[in-house]
Amino acid sequence: MSDGYGTLYLCATPIGNLGDMTFRAVEILKKVSLIAAEDTRHTRKLTSHFDIHTPLTSYHEHNRQTKGPELVAKLLAGQDVAVVSDAGLPGISDPGEDLVRLAIQAGVRVTPIPGACAALTALMASGLSTRGFQFVGFLPKASTARRKYLQTLRSQPETLLFYESPHQLIKTLEDLSAVLGDRQAVIGRELTKLHEEFCRTTLSGLVVHFREHPPRGEFVIVVARHDGAQDMPEQTPPEITDDYIRQEVERRVAGGANKKDAIRMIASQWGLSRRRVYQLALDSG
Ligand code: SAM
Repeated sequence: MSDGYGTLYLCATPIGNLGDMTFRAVEILKKVSLIAAEDTRHTRKLTSHFDIHTPLTSYHEHNRQTKGPELVAKLLAGQDVAVVSDAGLPGISDPGEDLVRLAIQAGVRVTPIPGACAALTALMASGLSTRGFQFVGFLPKASTARRKYLQTLRSQPETLLFYESPHQLIKTLEDLSAVLGDRQAVIGRELTKLHEEFCRTTLSGLVVHFREHPPRGEFVIVVARHDGAQDMPEQTPPEITDDYIRQEVERRVAGGANKKDAIRMIASQWGLSRRRVYQLALDSG
């Protein structure tokens, strides 16, 4: 830019699968003077993988008030800076939002480098309506505040998207069901990773499922809009023959899952006994 200022790049990084890093993100991270990362140790693994040697500095929730103005000073001095979070889009339930505002106030150009976002990745494969949606992200942690906030979403005519951690998941699903009613809902777990899974049922169905299978990994909760009972297509279950089960085990193992996990996932997905799946998996060698 002719003003001599640097550019602030908001750089997407993968939400699990390194193959989702974009060419442009690699190119930008190589060429900027500095990368401001939520967790430098985490980002160093990514930069090493892509042979990026740009210096890293930390920018996170706890230092953003002092670090933000320092980064803007560098931008005003003509340095290009890229911001990355641990995964996905910086500024989306992650640090970045404040820095964007500071940079705009200072007259610095802000350029987004798009890529994966967990919420939209879950939404597009959920089967629920994608025509209108509301991204909520993390709900308040305290149950009273959470339920109060959920009341404001009750009549929302749009699909709702939430982030949640494994240890809060069941409690949040219970609150969603209690306040919004027992709607259709989908969980996208470990998206783009080896154990990616979609669980498409109702909020109460999800509560039952996760009581039986303690939540592990990362989750996006997608909830049908108010009056969206017809949104979800009927899922036609495959015919669960012995051959089908053997093929499914082989398919998942070929995809990189270990056999024990493949057996567990198939049994849980179709409500089969683990013993049956295990026996068939043994047969297939
Ligand atoms: N900035 C990120 C984005 O653009 O998606 C979101 C960061 S937020 C701190 C982390 C939350 O995103 C996790 O707790 C989980 O709810 C969701 N998430 C991130 N990666 C995920 C994945 N691979 N599968 C499912 N959910 C994921």
